[in-house]
Amino acid sequence: METVQFDVAIVGAGGAGLRAAIALAQTDPKLRIALISKVYPMRSHTCAAEGGAAGVIKADDSFDMHFDDTVGGGDWLSDQDCVEYFVKEAPKELTQLEHWGCPWNREPDGSVAVRPFGGMKKQRTWFAADKSGFHILHTLFQTTLQFPSITRFDEYFALDLLVDDGRCQGLTAMEMRSGMIKQFSAKAVIICGGGAGRMFPFSTNGAIKTGDGMALAYRAGVPLKDMEFVQYHPTGLPNTGSLLTEACRGEGGVLLNKHGRRYLQDYGMGPETPLGKPQLKTMELGPRDRVSQAYWHEVQKGNTVTTEWGECVLLDMRHLGEKYIDERLPLVRELAIAYLGVDIVKDAVPIRPVVHYMMGGISTNTEAATTLPGLFAAGECACVSLNGANRLGSNSLVELLVFGKSAAMSAIKHLQNLPPANAAALEARAQESQARIRGLFSRTDGTESMSGLRKEMMDTMETHAGIYRTEAGLQEAVDKIAELRHRYQKVVLHDRSNVFNTDLFQVLELGSMLDCASALTVGALARKESRGAHQRLDYVERDDNNFLRHSMVYHQGLDAPRVDYLDVVITRSPPGVRDYSGGHK
Ligand SMILES: Cc1cc2nc3c(=O)[nH]c(=O)nc-3n(C[C@H](O)[C@H](O)[C@H](O)COP(=O)(O)OP(=O)(O)OC[C@H]3O[C@@H](n4cnc5c(N)ncnc54)[C@H](O)[C@@H]3O)c2cc1C
Repeated sequence: METVQFDVAIVGAGGAGLRAAIALAQTDPKLRIALISKVYPMRSHTCAAEGGAAGVIKADDSFDMHFDDTVGGGDWLSDQDCVEYFVKEAPKELTQLEHWGCPWNREPDGSVAVRPFGGMKKQRTWFAADKSGFHILHTLFQTTLQFPSITRFDEYFALDLLVDDGRCQGLTAMEMRSGMIKQFSAKAVIICGGGAGRMFPFSTNGAIKTGDGMALAYRAGVPLKDMEFVQYHPTGLPNTGSLLTEACRGEGGVLLNKHGRRYLQDYGMGPETPLGKPQLKTMELGPRDRVSQAYWHEVQKGNTVTTEWGECVLLDMRHLGEKYIDERLPLVRELAIAYLGVDIVKDAVPIRPVVHYMMGGISTNTEAATTLPGLFAAGECACVSLNGANRLGSNSLVELLVFGKSAAMSAIKHLQNLPPANAAALEARAQESQARIRGLFSRTDGTESMSGLRKEMMDTMETHAGIYRTEAGLQEAVDKIAELRHRYQKVVLHDRSNVFNTDLFQVLELGSMLDCASALTVGALARKESRGAHQRLDYVERDDNNFLRHSMVYHQGLDAPRVDYLDVVITRSPPGVRDYSGGHK
C-alpha cells in the first residue's frame, strides 16, 4: 500500500475544510497539508446554501443580542462560552471573506446589506442573492489555490482513522477512480465531513451527506454529542426535498393553510403581521423547530392541501412582485419552476418540512478538539455546542469559518513536541482497514441489498424519529436500526470492479448512516423531555432538572451504544422561556 506523509490531513473540502486548510497554510507555510474529499471541492454541500451568514454589523445590533438569539433559539442547550466566542469572531470572518473576494449584496450607500432570518431579533444575515453558499465556497476554494503547501486529493473516499499510542496519526482513503487505497500518515487529522441528513427520505441535503465523518470518529471511540436534535426546515419542495430558503420568508413570503389562513398565529407566533416587510422573530420568522411543528398540527387538523406528494402547506410570495423576486430570490424562482412547475411570481408553492441539518455530531470543545488527541473536527459533522437543540438559520455558514479556523490552530498546537510515530504499528492499522474493504469484495454469503436496507432505515427514521416522537416509536426505531446494523454485515456488493465503484461507496455510506442513526435513536429514546427540535408527545415539557445536559453516545461495535451525559456550560443566560409571540424584549 502506498504511504504518503503529511503534517495535517483534512477530511472534507466544504466550507469548514477549506477554511481550516487556509488557516494552516497561512499560519505556517512549511506545513504539509492534505485535503481529502470524496467530491471535487465545489461540489460540497456548502455550495447549496442559499440564504446567508449571520454576523453583527449594523449599529442597532450587538454581540449580546446575537448571543441571546442563539442561546434562546437553541433552547439553552448551547455551551455559552462557545456562543460568546462565536458571535465575536463572526463579523471578522465575514469581513475576511469579503477581502478574499466574496461578493456580498450591498445597501444603496455601499455598506454590506443584511436580511432578516428566522429566530434572529435583528437583521444580521449577510447574503449574496440566494446563492450565498456558492459564493462563500468559491471564495474559499480560490483562496486555497494560492498555497502550494495544500495538496488536494479530490475524489478520495476516507475509510478509517489510524490510531496508535492513544492518538490519531492519519487515515486510509481510497482513490475512487482506481480503487487504490492509500495510507495517509499525518500528525493530526481534522474531520470536516459535513452532515448526515440522508438518513431521512425527505431532505434538503445533497446525496453525499451521509455522516461518513461522524462515523469515522465514532468508530475510533470519540462520542457523538446531541445526535437526537435533527432540524427540519419548514419549507422544502415536497417531491425532491429541495430547499426554498428561509430568505423567502425573510423577504416577506407568508405561509398559508388550505383555507388561506396564515396559521402560525394559531401556534404562539402571532399576532398576524401586515403583508410586506415581516416582523423579526414572529409569524413566518419564528424559529425552524416551531414553524415545522405547526405544520404537523395543521396536518392533524386537516388544514393542509393534499397533493400527489403528500400533505402540504403553501408558501406565498406573489405580493413581493417579479422585479424584487428576481433580484433577491432568483434561485428560488428557478427551483420551483424546474422541479414543481410553479412560478412563484404567479402562484403560491406547495411545501413541507424536510430534514435539513444535524445539530449533533462529533463531540468537540470550543477549540474544535475531540477527546482523541490528534483528532479535530469542525463544521456540520462536529458538535461544538453552538447550536444547542435548534440551530438558527445562517449561523452554520459562519460556524464553518470560525471553527474551521479554530481546528487548524489547535492542530498546529498539537504538532509541537510529538513523539515519533511507530511506522510499523500504523502500517498494521492501515492493513486492517484494507482487509475490511477486501472483505466486502470477497464476501460470498451476502444476502442483503444495500438499497433495501437503506429504504428500511429511511422509513424508520421518518416514521419514528421525525418532527414528533414517542417512547413506543423510538423503541421501535432503536430495535429496527440495531437489526439493520446486524443485517448490514451480510450486505451484497454487486459491482466488484475498481474503477469508480459507486456500489461500494454507497455500501460504505450506508454503514456510516446506520451508525449515525443508531446514535440518534438511542439518544432520542433516552431524552425524556421536549427541547428544541426534539419533541416528544409523551414528555411535552422541557426538563432542565434532568436534561439540561448534552447526550454523549459511544460506539460499542455491534452492541447497543452507550449513552452518557455532559453538563451544558452556562455563563450568563439561565434557561428561560422561548417567546416568539412578539411581546418579548
Ligand atoms: C440546501 C441547503 C441550504 C443551506 N443554507 C444555509 C444558509 O443559508 N445559511 C447557513 O448558515 N447554513 C445553511 N445550510 C447549512 C450549511 O450549508 C451546512 O451546514 C454547511 O455548508 C456544511 O459545511 P461543511 O463544510 O461542514 O460540510 P460540506 O460542505 O457538506 O462538506 C463536506 C465535505 O466532506 C467530504 N466528505 C464527506 N465524507 C467523506 C469521505 N468519506 N471521504 C472523503 N471526503 C468526505 C465531502 O466531499 C465534502 O467536501 C444549508 C444547507 C443546505 C443543505
